[in-house]
Amino acid sequence: MAAEVLDGKAIAADLRSRVEEVVAARVRAGRRPPGLATVLVGDDPASHVYVGSKRKACAEAGIRSIHHELPGDVAEEELIDLVAALDRDPGVDGILVQMPLPARIDQDRVLAEISAGKDVDGLTPANAGHLAQGRIGVREALELESDRPAVGLVACTPAGVMEILHRSGVELAGAEAVVVGRSILVGRPMASLLLNASATVTVCHSRTRDLAAACRRADLLIAAVGRPGMVGAESIKPGATVIDVGMNRTDEGLVGDVDFDAASAVAGRITPVPGGVGPMTIAMLLANTVRAAR
Ligand code: NDP
Repeated sequence: MAAEVLDGKAIAADLRSRVEEVVAARVRAGRRPPGLATVLVGDDPASHVYVGSKRKACAEAGIRSIHHELPGDVAEEELIDLVAALDRDPGVDGILVQMPLPARIDQDRVLAEISAGKDVDGLTPANAGHLAQGRIGVREALELESDRPAVGLVACTPAGVMEILHRSGVELAGAEAVVVGRSILVGRPMASLLLNASATVTVCHSRTRDLAAACRRADLLIAAVGRPGMVGAESIKPGATVIDVGMNRTDEGLVGDVDFDAASAVAGRITPVPGGVGPMTIAMLLANTVRAAR
């Protein structure tokens, strides 16, 4: 039987309308709308598309977007000064520096200028630390309305995956979860969120021996590698939930890390690319901006 397709686009649309309502209520209460600053360096076409989509989503949700574009040969100090100024600006609640930065720029130095409270990408050591020490679970990561200040901000893509799993009723406590990929943007925070939700988590990477065997143990398999179609039917336990984070631009268009047709014949549930995790990343960025403003 073909796997159930988990519709990230629909879940994202729902979350975005919730964000819009929270923003509208905030403005009705006489407070300024949340503000998200985006910083784009260079002319990478994919980065321009991503930032464009994020700014459009902000406008639709009533979030103020403050955008800065710098040339690819910008001096590192100039970029650092800009990020530091945005961090001091009381009208800016969240700062997103679009990655990747040019290789000659020290990403850690740039990120060090962002306070944890404005770090809507969840990349600073303080936010990553809250997550790694188990202080942020699904509930905290997704909480939009509360009188309490937000406890840490979680990287948008893994938080978006958690929302898909939560809305789709996927049982996590005690489940065997395998995350393929260990980047600070996706794999590591994903593994921490699943661990905080009491899954038994295995993290695989380029040095993993017999990747397919490790993946076949998974009740929940998350692929975040960046290699088109590398996860096939041989890597999937029958009935497993398969989440494809990969976004690979090929001659055939945008494809994931999972061979969708082959995997669908074995998996119980699966996310498509496009229309799966991608839209959730943008929705979670809006949610994080609202949480940062709180
Ligand atoms: P990175 O390149 O930073 O990390 C890739 C990871 O995959 C690394 O940990 C690497 O291992 C591992 N890897 C590489 N080759 C293999 C292999 N043959 N077997 C097992 N593991 C391997 O990528 P990101 O984490 O930033 O992104 C991953 C994918 O997710 C990309 O396709 C990206 O475009 C997509 N993405 C999608 C988003 C969305 O909104 N849907 C948002 C962000 C990313 P090692 O550490 O050993 O090198």
